[in-house]
Amino acid sequence: MNDCIFCKIVAGGIKSKIAYQDDNIVAFEDIAPQAPTHLLFIPREHVDRITEMGDAKIVSMIPKVFKAIAKVVSEKNMDSGYRVVLNQGSEAGQAVGHLHFHLLAGRRMSWPPG
Ligand code: AMP
Repeated sequence: MNDCIFCKIVAGGIKSKIAYQDDNIVAFEDIAPQAPTHLLFIPREHVDRITEMGDAKIVSMIPKVFKAIAKVVSEKNMDSGYRVVLNQGSEAGQAVGHLHFHLLAGRRMSWPPG
């Protein structure tokens, strides 16, 4: 097992509130929510950045992430709005080196993000 906390969540070694899972994707509640709904969607397979993935993996993985996001958005009735965020690299605020998409909803959001 590597030291990645999100890999440990996938493996069940760190407890989290799972909101969705399938063979490829796991979504769980962010431990420090920035909105009434704040979920993280991750591939089960460890990868840090999309630039490490290669074309074939991007083309197979990213649609699966968004299919999972769409399913949760529909189930949770987020019709009034939601935001999907991918932070890549320290300057963008990435703190965990396992690719994750934030899904935020339940409050009015501003633009541009800080
Ligand atoms: P980022 O800054 O884009 O890398 O986002 C990392 C996110 O992971 C932050 O919003 C953290 O609150 C969240 N996080 C860190 N550890 C955990 C954990 N054990 N369970 C759930 N969320 C976590």
